[in-house]
Amino acid sequence: MVDYIIVGSGLAGIAFAETLLQNNKSFVVIDNHSQNSSRVAGGLYNPVILKRFSQVWNANEQLQLADVFYKRIEEKLVVQVDFKLPIYRKFFSIEEQNNWFAASDKPALAPFLSTSIIHKKYAAIDAPYGYGEVLHTGYLNTTIFLDHYLKYLRLNNWLIEVKFEHSALLTNEEYVEYMGTKARHIVFAEGFGMHANPFFKHLPLDGTKGELFIIRAPDLDLDVIINTSVFILPLGNDLFKVGATYNWEDKSNTPTEEGKQELVERIKEIISCDFEIVKHFAGVRPTVKDRRPLIGTHAKYKNIHILNGLGTRGVMLAPALALDLYASIEEGKPLEKAVDIKRYNITS
Ligand SMILES: Cc1cc2nc3c(=O)[nH]c(=O)nc-3n(C[C@H](O)[C@H](O)[C@H](O)COP(=O)(O)OP(=O)(O)OC[C@H]3O[C@@H](n4cnc5c(N)ncnc54)[C@H](O)[C@@H]3O)c2cc1C
Repeated sequence: MVDYIIVGSGLAGIAFAETLLQNNKSFVVIDNHSQNSSRVAGGLYNPVILKRFSQVWNANEQLQLADVFYKRIEEKLVVQVDFKLPIYRKFFSIEEQNNWFAASDKPALAPFLSTSIIHKKYAAIDAPYGYGEVLHTGYLNTTIFLDHYLKYLRLNNWLIEVKFEHSALLTNEEYVEYMGTKARHIVFAEGFGMHANPFFKHLPLDGTKGELFIIRAPDLDLDVIINTSVFILPLGNDLFKVGATYNWEDKSNTPTEEGKQELVERIKEIISCDFEIVKHFAGVRPTVKDRRPLIGTHAKYKNIHILNGLGTRGVMLAPALALDLYASIEEGKPLEKAVDIKRYNITS
């Protein structure tokens, strides 16, 4: 008997596994690598929604928890995964500059928006109106993070790399049983794969496909993340991650010609130097209609839980939500209504 079975080893599943380790609970993780949202993600964390100049929901708390969480993993696995880097928003007009200053006056945004215009020159970027700098930003290199954490799970025999078949789950008052493994609880962290899960099929997980590139651009001397219609993130050695597109129709993980054309056009709007596409990825973000995560406990089965709906912000959300779900299961601490799946309980 283990304490938990976790289905999914993306950002959500890993955050929950790590929370269990911190609390001396035993677990196994099951994953068949059928979804890759966490692996392909840009990995940016940014407390400000730049399109609307509003603070990300619960940004302060999430940033603080994420900082501690990723630092602890870096120390444990002896690898850097969290790269603190400024995000620059390029201004296209005086009006945009004025909007930035107005936003930076708001108490919720003041800690995150610098109040001076940056006129740094990058050879391949024309920015006559300068940039605004968002503070407390950076990116998680999700490929390094997943590679190292999955290796750590494998070394400890905590990872089973097979497809989870929901029909084989046996439920019981005190425990669940899956293929001979008994567990006090099961947590589903399947990302967009949730659509195959009969226990949570009533939840409105939407799914928004995104495509990204890694490009090589030797003449792009960028040392910060630029975020306008797409982000450009320097990886070193003349390589940059660029993304992402948003597609609400196609729910596959396959890169498309359409996505490629869109990204190429967007890149050309920002940089004037040559670039070569080194890799082209795609994944489906587990987005929700009301833009809030889906966490909590099944209405009928008290030992079946979900950690999903991390949407476009898995890096910041995962550590905080894993803690909240854990406290709700083990300590009976109520979840915030905005994220609790109870908001979708069928009442009739
Ligand atoms: C193009 C793109 C760019 C993004 N950029 C950013 C960004 O810059 N910053 C940010 O914070 N977020 C970003 N995101 C969003 C972020 O990636 C997601 O919020 C996050 O990865 C979701 O993590 P998850 O663990 O819930 O889902 P996933 O990463 O999809 O993990 C789910 C796991 O469950 C497994 N699974 C599912 N079903 C089964 C089954 N039946 N049996 C076994 N295993 C199963 C899958 O194989 C997968 O490993 C981006 C996403 C995309 C696609």
